[in-house]
Amino acid sequence: MKLTILTDNNVPLDSPCCGEAGFCCYLEDGDSRILLDTGFSDVCVRNAEKLGIDLRALDAVVLSHGHDDHSGGLRCLPRAAGRPRLIAHPDAFRPKRWEGGGESIGLPVSRAWLEERYELCPTAEPLFLTDRLAFLGQIPRTQPFEEEYTLGETLTDAGWQPDRMADDSALAYRGREGLTIITGCSHSGICSVVAYAKRVWGEDRIAGVIGGFHLREPGPRVQRTAEYLRDLHAKRMCPCHCTSFAARAAIHRLVPVEEAGAGTQMEIE
Ligand SMILES: [Zn+2]
Ligand SMILES: [Zn+2]
Repeated sequence: MKLTILTDNNVPLDSPCCGEAGFCCYLEDGDSRILLDTGFSDVCVRNAEKLGIDLRALDAVVLSHGHDDHSGGLRCLPRAAGRPRLIAHPDAFRPKRWEGGGESIGLPVSRAWLEERYELCPTAEPLFLTDRLAFLGQIPRTQPFEEEYTLGETLTDAGWQPDRMADDSALAYRGREGLTIITGCSHSGICSVVAYAKRVWGEDRIAGVIGGFHLREPGPRVQRTAEYLRDLHAKRMCPCHCTSFAARAAIHRLVPVEEAGAGTQMEIE
């Protein structure tokens, strides 16, 4: 599988791409072309053009969750020739906003707008996109050191409630050397994501972890996470997007972190 990061907060030195506080990743597995997230704006579209990637030919768009730094670019994607699938947890489609009736931080477009362009596939269960690539659906939060938190509010059947981000999900690719996990924000906790990917695939070997780990302040959680990641013995560790410099540095002390950002391309076998 070929993976290209189209949007990230970080831009490596030799990259021709622009950066943005958001995440978007383009995947080619055999004949399947899949976009995981869309960043916040048209940056993913402009970067795709620079890299010669045709976003009109997508088979599926996957949203890791509904936050607008992952879904905002939906309104900027070129319209596909066919009707690609749009895969996300059902709660990703619920409105989201900052606390106390603040600005919207959910999907930038209506369900009707999406239905006109995509075949909507809301699912909380794992969904296999190819023989080797799975959308994980809802992630059970299994690691006690990854405390749950809320961010903003979401419109539930009982009105606006603090958002626990049940919609947070990720992709897991099964390659020759084990699983590569590709995350958006890991609001579920990156270690819970890894643990669930192992369960879904029935595979214990982890080849790589790539994407946002949502770790900010150094402290016990970052330390325990770094220890968990070290014990995976993964070949490739690429915390990016919403992983602070301090958190990356803490992980790097235990597991060498690979530089990754907008324009990074890698082959995953
Ligand atoms: Zn988020
Ligand atoms: Zn994010």
